[in-house]
Amino acid sequence: MIGVLALQGDFEAHLDALGRAGVAAREVRDAEEVLASTGLVIPGGESTTFRRLMEGTGIEEAIRAVAGRGDPVLGTCAGAILLARDVEGPRAASLGLLPMTVVRNAYGRQLDSAVVRLTDLARGVLGGESLEAVFIRAPRIASVDPSVEILARRDGDPVLVRQGNVTAATFHPELTEDRRVVDVFLSGRAST
Ligand code: GLN
Repeated sequence: MIGVLALQGDFEAHLDALGRAGVAAREVRDAEEVLASTGLVIPGGESTTFRRLMEGTGIEEAIRAVAGRGDPVLGTCAGAILLARDVEGPRAASLGLLPMTVVRNAYGRQLDSAVVRLTDLARGVLGGESLEAVFIRAPRIASVDPSVEILARRDGDPVLVRQGNVTAATFHPELTEDRRVVDVFLSGRAST
């Protein structure tokens, strides 16, 4: 049973998308429910609000435990910000589960919300067909450690990355019909 963190943001769209893909999922709202999940989605929304709502609840520790035991974790947009080791724009604390630096709201006003066909893909993982990606006030992945796989890029910047069982997308795969990102998320395996 995949848990979708339902504190804030577009968790309902993730539940619908997982449902369409035939994956059993439910909303999770506290540490116990997070720990009871066999995988976790951290949706888009507002990363500062997420952090505030998680404070003192044990949810952060529960997410670390889920990732640490090797279950798949997917963060999209604000969720990707929460997974990053370093957050800038402004500098902020995060879970530090993916060794990468993200800059919040880094694209110019014209570019920060857009529907883009991504063609720069890791074809061994995603196949050859372009991937439709919806960006909404997206963060920019400014750098990743060499241990992080870059699965898709937009204008050279990584937008879909994975390290073992932890996957992050700066776009919103739950808003399109393509299920390849769900497949990447669910096939993620612990790297250690
Ligand atoms: N701009 C938001 C943030 O910084 C992320 C936007 C999103 O999740 N769609 O948290």
